[in-house]
Amino acid sequence: MLGVYVSVPFCRAKCSFCNFASGVGTGAAMEQYVEQLCAEIDAAAVTAERLGTELPRRVDSVYFGGGTPSLLEPEQLRRVFDALRRRFEIEDSAEITLEAAPGQIGDRVLAEAQRLGVNRVSLGVQSFVDRESASVGRLHTERECVAEIVRLRAAGLAEVGADLIAGLPYQTEASWVHSLEVATGVGLTHLSVYMLEIDEDSRLGQEVLAGGKRFHAHGVPEEEMAAELYEQACEWLPKAGFAQYEISNFAAAEHRSKHNVKYWQRVPYIGFGLDAHSMLPAASGAMRFANPDELARYAGAESEREATPVGLHEAFEETIFLGLRMSEGVPIAGLREAFPRELVASCEEAARGLVAEGLMTDDDGHWRLTLRGRLVSNDVFGRLLEGIAA
Ligand code: SF4
Repeated sequence: MLGVYVSVPFCRAKCSFCNFASGVGTGAAMEQYVEQLCAEIDAAAVTAERLGTELPRRVDSVYFGGGTPSLLEPEQLRRVFDALRRRFEIEDSAEITLEAAPGQIGDRVLAEAQRLGVNRVSLGVQSFVDRESASVGRLHTERECVAEIVRLRAAGLAEVGADLIAGLPYQTEASWVHSLEVATGVGLTHLSVYMLEIDEDSRLGQEVLAGGKRFHAHGVPEEEMAAELYEQACEWLPKAGFAQYEISNFAAAEHRSKHNVKYWQRVPYIGFGLDAHSMLPAASGAMRFANPDELARYAGAESEREATPVGLHEAFEETIFLGLRMSEGVPIAGLREAFPRELVASCEEAARGLVAEGLMTDDDGHWRLTLRGRLVSNDVFGRLLEGIAA
């Protein structure tokens, strides 16, 4: 079964920490984008054929991300769903997620979204502490976030999740505990916890790197403190019923995000819209392709799209670094069945070293990251895979 991602890259305001391909758009820009999106969905089979792959028809997860897709008009949302249903058979039991910002999902949009099959909303809360939210340009207060979650649950949505960020300006251990306590006591079913990314791709990241004070950069806690807050969440949330099932994701088993699990388990998915990525089956195993990340280039980008075949080594590397993200880890026997033995053997010495350093475990025939390993996961992946012959 295929997963479908739909990117809607428009927001009411640009958050200072955001490094996604998203921005504030006019009504006209959104309308033009919806038209392009529907055209891209209608052409999906032709695109897949041109790229040398076949497009599965049956879909069991759809994810509207962005951006803030809840800003679409009900009629625009309906047109995108119509296009999806023209091309795909969406299972009755499919998980259909709409990302939203608290206070930015109107009554008409919510009613139409539910009528069209949306059964899961993911809210970009980031913090339940007003000073922290305001410092990064979020447009909501704790009270509004709580009211939004209560409203969504009362509207009959069985799955309501939220994102939190560790390392926001002015965050302290006490304020982080406050966010965790509210998040676990307000009726959410899923939590994603990310550490603030400090890089050149966001205004806040640039200012922190430059040592400046704009965007409250001087209030950003040290990296070690953000790591401690993340560790605290990893210890605290499971006790509150939110088991950690992936480096950044927490939920009871029945509330995991089925769509996101596809990415880590390398199940085929197709993405539509700005900066959307796809992985589809191919004769060689799989192929990946991506859309442009600039709006001006997205329109009419069809001829630019090129697929990259996922070779044996890449498939092996992806299986390891995506599998290690999940708490279940990577079954070593499964690796030996799916890949040549020498490929698996090329990581075993590094794996033993990482186990000895307490960054990984190898219990029950599975490689798994420890809590310390999750904090330096990219280093662990690099060391594990450096032994693979090119
Ligand atoms: S709402 Fe989300 S996508 Fe939009 S600017 Fe803020 S973080 Fe980025």
